[in-house]
Formats: sequence, structure tokens, C-alpha cells
Amino acid sequence: MFHQRPKILIVDDVPSNIQVLSHILKDDYDIYFAMDGVKALELVVARQPDLVLLDIMMPGMDGYEVCSQIKANPLTCDIPVIFVSARGEVEDETRGLEAGAIDFITKPISAPIVKARVRNHLLLKHQADLLRRLSFLDGLTGIGNRRRFDEIFSREWRRCMRSNQPLAVIMVDVDHFKAYNDHYGHHSGDECLRAVAAMLDAVAQRPGDFAARYGGEEFVCLLPETDGDGARMVAERLRETVTARAIPHAASTTAPCVTISIGYAAVVPTEKADPYTLLADADEALYGAKKSGRNRVCGADMVTETVAG
Ligand code: GH3
Ligand code: MG
Ligand code: MG
Repeated sequence: MFHQRPKILIVDDVPSNIQVLSHILKDDYDIYFAMDGVKALELVVARQPDLVLLDIMMPGMDGYEVCSQIKANPLTCDIPVIFVSARGEVEDETRGLEAGAIDFITKPISAPIVKARVRNHLLLKHQADLLRRLSFLDGLTGIGNRRRFDEIFSREWRRCMRSNQPLAVIMVDVDHFKAYNDHYGHHSGDECLRAVAAMLDAVAQRPGDFAARYGGEEFVCLLPETDGDGARMVAERLRETVTARAIPHAASTTAPCVTISIGYAAVVPTEKADPYTLLADADEALYGAKKSGRNRVCGADMVTETVAG
């Protein structure tokens, strides 16, 4: 059911405790271990385990503190933590759960119970991960969806503001797509959208670049640390890639094959600027590209325009 062996981090200051747990779990899982809180926090970030088994009483940082820090860090907050402790009083367990742990196992441990609880929590984690990934994807094309775009857009906006770098956005719309559907049918229309999405994803190559389906037959691509000239280059490369693919479009009055129109805009984000304006500018540029003949790239400044050759 799991694609890879799940990774478990065992944290305990007593080596024999680690050995016991490791012995129970090592056949099914990849085991990492730490003997103090500082090392545990380091490993949990570096290894991104699927589950943490955490002792409470440890010299220096205790388990409650380790758990609280794991839960406070956005990089690790989704990793389930199970306390494994000899302190089985109601207050101990309550405090552990309040620190964000998902479960509490008391020592001395029973192998079948540890195995069963670990398995259950890993399964839940696996399903939660899957749902989270799916909720970010567009079902038709497999690239990011609008929700994911909104999230990444606001993150990149703030990041570019901090680093005083431009943020560019390109808006893509398939030309005469209604006619394509009418002529070839919706199934072929969907195929066409998948092909355009894949080309967009392939053209936006830098690590921070992000492509999403914005709606219907419209796509959007976010290009951090990219100015207007850079955005125009990416947009032009995409437009050329789509025409070069030469997907037949007999019902188009622009070309015998599928073409796209693109609008782009770029800005160095500031506290005063409205992120929405960047999108509106790219959208307006896209409208300009449509109005001036389609199969072309238009910039928000309306000066830089590349006409299809
Ligand atoms: P223009 O060149 O001005 O963009 O013309 P257009 O026909 O592409 O523009 P319009 O926005 O009028 O048409 C968009 C069409 O896209 C409407 C609908 O038939 C189609 N469409 C939207 N979403 C989907 C989808 O998920 N699958 C398919 N097959 N078609 C879709
Ligand atoms: Mg269209
Ligand atoms: Mg449209």
C-alpha cells in the first residue's frame, strides 16, 4: 500500500529502549534514531520521517518540548508524534496530547500494540498526504489547480517583496477553443487541454516557476525573480512550442492548428501594491493579445508585443 517503506524516527536517551522499538519495527520500516531533543529536531527536518516515537524524560530538552517544536514548525507539523513513556499518569498523557501528539503508548511496551498503533497512524498519515496532494491538483490536466495557485501566488508575492525581486505572471488562453470542442468533441478538447498544460509545465523550468489551470481553457504561470523581459521570453517559447506541436484545428480562423494567446505582467511587489493588480494586468494584456489577432504574446505595458511569424 505504501510506495516506499515508511520512515520512523525513534527518540530516546536510553539506547536499550531504542533497540527494543527498533527490533519490533525494523522489518517493516526504515528506522532513524536520536538520543536527545536537539538531534531529534534536526533529524525530523532533514529526514522528514512519517512518524516519530518520542520518549518524555530526557536530559536537556524533554519530549513535550520536542513535540511542541515539531508541531510549531511548518516543515514538520504534519508528522504524527506518538509518545512512548513510562510516565503513564493521566496528567502525563494529557500533557503529551496537548503538546500535539496523536497517541500515547506506556512502557513497558507490548510489541503487537506498538505495531498496530504505528501501522494505524501511518495509514492515516498516508491518506492525509494523498488528500492534500490531490486537493492541490487539477483533475483534468494534473498540473496545479486554482487553489494551489492562489496559495503559491501569495507566498511568492511576499517572498519577492522581502528580496526586492520582480514577480511575473503569464496568462494563457487557448484560441477558438469553443470551436475546437464543437468540431472535435469534448473528449478531444480535454486531450488538447492536457497537451497544453504539459507544454506549459515543461516550458516553465526554473525551480520556483509554477504552472496551474486557472479555469476552463485558461492557464496561468508564476515566474518568481523574473521581470517583464524574462516573462515575454517564457511566453514566446510557450507560444512557439504549442504551434510547433501542430495539433490540428480545422475550425480555427487563426491557423490550421491549435494556438494560444498570452498576456504577461511583472512587478516588484511592495507593501502598497495590490497582488490582484498583477493578475488583472496580465489578464488585460491577454485580452489585448486576443483583440489584436490571437496567437501572440502581449505585455501589460502594451508596448512589447510579438506578433506571430
Ligand atoms: P477565444 O479565441 O476568444 O479564446 O475563443 P474561445 O472559443 O476559446 O473562448 P471562450 O472563452 O468563448 O470558450 C472557451 C471554451 O472552452 C468554452 C468551453 O467549451 C471550453 N472549455 C472550458 N473548459 C473546458 C474543459 O474542461 N474541457 C473542454 N473540453 N472544454 C472546455
Ligand atoms: Mg479561448
Ligand atoms: Mg477563455
